[in-house]
Amino acid sequence: MTPTLLSALTTSAVGGPAGKFVAARTEAEIIEAVRTADAAGEQVLTVSGGSNLLVSDDGFPGTVIKIASQGFTVNAEDSCGGVAVVVQAGHNWDKLVEHAVRHAWSGIEALSGIPGSTGATPVQNVGAYGADVSQTIAAVRTWDRERNAVQTFTNSELKFGYRDSILKQTTVNGSPRYVVLTVEFQLPLGRMSAPIRYAELARSLGVEVGQRAYANDVRREVLRLRASKGMVWDAADRDTYSTGSFFTNPIVAVDVADKLPESAPATRRARTGW
Ligand SMILES: Cc1cc2nc3c(=O)[nH]c(=O)nc-3n(C[C@H](O)[C@H](O)[C@H](O)COP(=O)(O)OP(=O)(O)OC[C@H]3O[C@@H](n4cnc5c(N)ncnc54)[C@H](O)[C@@H]3O)c2cc1C
Repeated sequence: MTPTLLSALTTSAVGGPAGKFVAARTEAEIIEAVRTADAAGEQVLTVSGGSNLLVSDDGFPGTVIKIASQGFTVNAEDSCGGVAVVVQAGHNWDKLVEHAVRHAWSGIEALSGIPGSTGATPVQNVGAYGADVSQTIAAVRTWDRERNAVQTFTNSELKFGYRDSILKQTTVNGSPRYVVLTVEFQLPLGRMSAPIRYAELARSLGVEVGQRAYANDVRREVLRLRASKGMVWDAADRDTYSTGSFFTNPIVAVDVADKLPESAPATRRARTGW
């Protein structure tokens, strides 16, 4: 049988053959695939959108599990508490953002255009343009490979930081200990965005940092800014093939930040948190 090439599963279109390949389309199939590979002592690579992975031409000798679960369920929706939506791990992130903006679910519009799956977003606390998913995630349901049991984390238990979370910090045999099954978001209802925290985005929207704008304008401007930097992945355009940024932004103390030139792009955060 022809082996599955990781190049077909990654946004860089690079990567050699998988030892074994399983496509898991439901939560039960994900658990079953992970359990089986772990019980056999095989190395495991979970791949979702393949947009944050660089795989060598030698490929991966163990089991590659493609997280392909789809869809979401609205558990609650009211003007007071907003929307509680539980999203399957394999569901495309930008499709969720697009749906949210169209249905006046506020809070994730500045995260438009980030490729990959919803289940991967809490792993590195995906973020851009002054927003990140820790601001709206209520809970993450996972499969704990060490305890062979389902484990649900609340927002505070996820220990979110800048491009970081407990899900990124913990591994078993070289791959994530906790395999994300679903992510629950709590999103306020309304056509207005969350406050704009990024100067470049605020400028392009014609608002001050800290003000709100219409969420669909925010999505449009974020997609435009990202496209101008080659940061919107497009299967039809090989020039956009990449794994995004290879660096994270430096974090500097306030006294150092105060000496930066006005033109330096920066996001200000309180010393104590996000
Ligand atoms: C053009 C471009 C722009 C980007 N812009 C941004 C940006 O603005 N901000 C940002 O934060 N990132 C950005 N990224 C990086 C990337 O899109 C995100 O990190 C995204 O969340 C990765 O999702 P994925 O489904 O593609 O993950 P994959 O690449 O499939 O996996 C990434 C890692 O997460 C693990 N993983 C995947 N799914 C699961 C799961 N269900 N449970 C546990 N672990 C899992 C994998 O094992 C792997 O270690 C960009 C990438 C590209 C190509």
